[in-house]
Amino acid sequence: MEMTILNARVPIWNADLYYNVAIQDGKIVSVDGHEHLQSGGEPFSFAAADEERKGTVVDVEGVILLPSFSDIHMHLDKSHSLPFAGNISGTLQEAIESYGRASQSVTDENMKERMKKTVLSALAHGTRSIRTHIDFHTRLEEDVTFRGVRMALELRKEFQSVVDIQVFPMLPYYPYDAQDRTRIEQLLTMDIDGIGGAPHISADPHEGVRELFRYAVKHNLALDIHTDESDDPQTNTILTIVDETIKHGYEGRVNVGHLCSLAAMNQKQADDVIGKMKQASLTAVTLPAANLYLQGRGDKGTVRRGVTRVKELRAAGIPVATASDNVCDPFHPFGRGDLLQIAQITGYAAHMGGTEDVIDLLRMITDEPAAIIGQTNKGIQIGQEASFMLIKAYSVAELFAQLPQTRAVYGNGQWLSKMHTAVSFSQTASESPV
Ligand SMILES: [Zn+2]
Repeated sequence: MEMTILNARVPIWNADLYYNVAIQDGKIVSVDGHEHLQSGGEPFSFAAADEERKGTVVDVEGVILLPSFSDIHMHLDKSHSLPFAGNISGTLQEAIESYGRASQSVTDENMKERMKKTVLSALAHGTRSIRTHIDFHTRLEEDVTFRGVRMALELRKEFQSVVDIQVFPMLPYYPYDAQDRTRIEQLLTMDIDGIGGAPHISADPHEGVRELFRYAVKHNLALDIHTDESDDPQTNTILTIVDETIKHGYEGRVNVGHLCSLAAMNQKQADDVIGKMKQASLTAVTLPAANLYLQGRGDKGTVRRGVTRVKELRAAGIPVATASDNVCDPFHPFGRGDLLQIAQITGYAAHMGGTEDVIDLLRMITDEPAAIIGQTNKGIQIGQEASFMLIKAYSVAELFAQLPQTRAVYGNGQWLSKMHTAVSFSQTASESPV
């Protein structure tokens, strides 16, 4: 199948030009930028039903084209569990306990349905790569322990070629007894993509980090670690993660999420941590929606926001993505798997709203997370699988102000999803005095 898109705005290349993008057999074959709108194609329609009538040259008349999104930190197993797993205090601790209890009566079907709902919503908003963390509690019934991983692996297969899903089970809190180790070894024989965990919550956090590295190195797996999701500046598993990364030659294979305590540290401590992270070639992901919700719950008066030092990390040359984390569960009661919405929240949380900042925000949900998780084979570069979306906005300012949901997602040589929302303002309303 061949298709040429005329007159797309591609702000991550140059916000002032229009681009024609030619696709052949699902791959980008040419890209051409120009200053003025060109004529020659059929008007593009975001309505799925109109697709059949369209020719192979479609004129998108200046709407924005972005590479597909990579959401590199989600919890698909927990998503949409809020109706049966509440969180009255709004703390991380209650969220963990509430979901842990509720998960014991979840069925395969229930979990799979919730996971699918989240993946389909993410896809409709433009996401084609997901790294999902999955709970792996070894002290529960065996069926409960393995349910999340089994369902995530099935889901990965069902969605292959539409959404790439990487499955990263979270190893349990350290220390481990014999049963823990038996189940962990069993897990590591499954076809998982890497491992994670939240060692800062362990009884022995630093040894918990070392244990994670032992398993990862033994099985040659990448690591993605929930790191110091705490308001306490003394929480510093990040330093052990740095040491272990260098010791095992794991540079470039370790991604760290949250880094909330880094936000609470004084400047000298923070500079030291950031310098060491750079030495160990760590990559990072901030999860601002969940952390704005969960952190600072013990504070009165001035409430800490819990979001890490995004701009300082980026200025030090550390790749930082932003991602969804939790969707409609006790850890974060909102969300729709829309990384554009998360980028906007990141703009608020990390004070990023300038002309260059918003382009950085777009990079933090597209090519940068794709590079962090090794998904650089698709996007909008010549020779790559064409993987992109059109969003009905005509400038970056409008994109971030409106977060339009009218989007068309392309990949695997076809339109995978089209979502169209009609907006009309009545004349009476617009003419009414305020
Ligand atoms: Zn998480």
